Amino acid sequence: MFSGVKPSGNPHVGNFFGAFTRWAELQQPGHFYCVVDLHAMTVPHDPAELREQTVDLASWLLASGLDPDTVTLFVQSQVREHSELAWILDCVATMGELQRMVQFKEKAAGQRDSVSVGLFNYPVLQAADIILYQADEVPVGEDQRQHIELSRDIAHRFNHRFGDTFRLPTATLPTSGARVMDLQHPDQKMSKSEESPQGTIDLADDADTTRKKLMRAVTDSGSEIRASADKPGIGNLLELLSAATGRTIPELEDEFAGKGYGDFKKAVAEAVIERLAPVRARYAELRADPAAVHAELGKGADRAREIAAATMADVREKVGLFGAE
Ligand code: ATP
Ligand code: MG
Repeated sequence: MFSGVKPSGNPHVGNFFGAFTRWAELQQPGHFYCVVDLHAMTVPHDPAELREQTVDLASWLLASGLDPDTVTLFVQSQVREHSELAWILDCVATMGELQRMVQFKEKAAGQRDSVSVGLFNYPVLQAADIILYQADEVPVGEDQRQHIELSRDIAHRFNHRFGDTFRLPTATLPTSGARVMDLQHPDQKMSKSEESPQGTIDLADDADTTRKKLMRAVTDSGSEIRASADKPGIGNLLELLSAATGRTIPELEDEFAGKGYGDFKKAVAEAVIERLAPVRARYAELRADPAAVHAELGKGADRAREIAAATMADVREKVGLFGAE
């Protein structure tokens, strides 16, 4: 299994409940978790900030419970095989299939001539990330499905052209795991890239800020605390409370039957704060000792490199590169 997360913007409780804690719960040897810093360069970026956000995100992943002795946790650019394979796959992928990527159409809308070539072919680098490790399972949200299908097509074409080399990856939709919505706009998901400071609880927020944002979360008309389509605000808070406590939504609806929104929001705030407290404390320790984080990432990169190098030796030989036979 391969999962990547891009070090751009500040990680939030949506990332935590939807991805990081789930990864930690399901972790097994043979899982690869990658901070994909090369993907953060597809739009103009600040070098110092990129380096900082890379270590920062890795620290959050460790603080969320990913165990670097169980899984392979590493930074993409430390394993140069990703870039090398991306070039070779660039020569297998076609302009036509990349032009069909919905995400590119959306991100480049109205500025096609000025966006980077990297933004256009980042799905090819993503294909390289995945198939280097012979991953067959890639847990992604609906928005990434098309990219994983492209990875599969590219891997299949490579195998057909040069002989069996890669396993074909499949997108697996996360089975459960909260989808956390913006607290101010509960019809939109909480996102790193959306400018909505009051609607987004950053993992780095302190307890007071977390409480304030949750107490000010928009609610819906009526006074009942239940999850239903006409109550996106309350539904989102129920989802958060359920994710933070491990209790089911029906249980929580029962518990809060007849109670007011104020009490309910207070309970959500305290539960989220309590769930995040040890994670935030661990993160602070890790940030105080960046050398330890660097060392873990170094070990992860060594392990990833071993596998990536073996795949690349095979690829170089198959495509006819000098010195590889
Ligand atoms: P961006 O706006 O840059 O796309 P993002 O907040 O969507 O940022 P990603 O880096 O795209 O974050 O995703 C990292 C992981 O977090 C993915 O596994 C994604 O499915 C998950 N995730 C992102 N947002 C949410 C959310 N609101 N609720 C649950 N899971 C989420
Ligand atoms: Mg996203």
